[in-house]
Amino acid sequence: MTYTFEPIGYIRSPYKEKFGIPRQPGLIPEARGELVFVAPYDRPEAVIGLEGYSHVWLQFVFHQALRGAWQPMVRPPRLGGNKRVGVFASRAPFRPNPIGLSVVKLEGVHAVDGEVVLELSGIDLLDGTPVLDVKPYVGYVDSIPEARSGYAPEAPGVRFQVRFLDLAEVQLLSRHEPDRLREFITHLLETDPRPAYSGESRPGRVYGIRLYDFDLRWRISDDVIEVLELAPLAVD
Ligand code: SAM
Repeated sequence: MTYTFEPIGYIRSPYKEKFGIPRQPGLIPEARGELVFVAPYDRPEAVIGLEGYSHVWLQFVFHQALRGAWQPMVRPPRLGGNKRVGVFASRAPFRPNPIGLSVVKLEGVHAVDGEVVLELSGIDLLDGTPVLDVKPYVGYVDSIPEARSGYAPEAPGVRFQVRFLDLAEVQLLSRHEPDRLREFITHLLETDPRPAYSGESRPGRVYGIRLYDFDLRWRISDDVIEVLELAPLAVD
């Protein structure tokens, strides 16, 4: 049996590429985004009542992880990328049905100028992610404080101090909401966004993460991540 679903809307996100996106929602509260509904689901009455909830579940398509064949075992980053577990014991994007599930904070519900939009924060989603469904988060059923969490018992820890070098500092201050952006970038980098299998890096190697309309360039120096610049993206 085959079932066909279509997106009810798409995500607008600061994350413009997969590299650097946190591996779960809520880890970076400053990561704000939007769910923009599309016709025929962009009906204002379809979101009435949602404003009473602080969080929502999003079911979405890992649209940049579509592969023909699936593998029964995967290597989760939390196990260093070198130990395998069953795909159903993981939250990896590559799975038989590439459907993701994230609980995110609902910052606002808007129906203006012909657009129905949910404002979200704490997202772990790529820009353009197709969303299949939204459901309110209900604390008394969805929160299980005594739950066991297998090989990922707690949130990833801080590994690096993050320091903005002069150019990055100036560029940061010229942007909208610089304090929030600084917190966002700091939280993004301090737990080490590099893939688990990357091993020890070449000293001085410069990394880039595409966020909003800039390329965040940084390097690692001992236990410090130095933010070099927020380089504007070249216009195609
Ligand atoms: N919270 C979700 C879940 O448990 O189903 C996602 C977990 S998955 C480990 C998170 C990663 O998926 C992110 O770090 C990012 O690299 C990747 N990702 C996010 N949106 C994606 C998309 N639309 N297509 C492919 N990969 C995506």
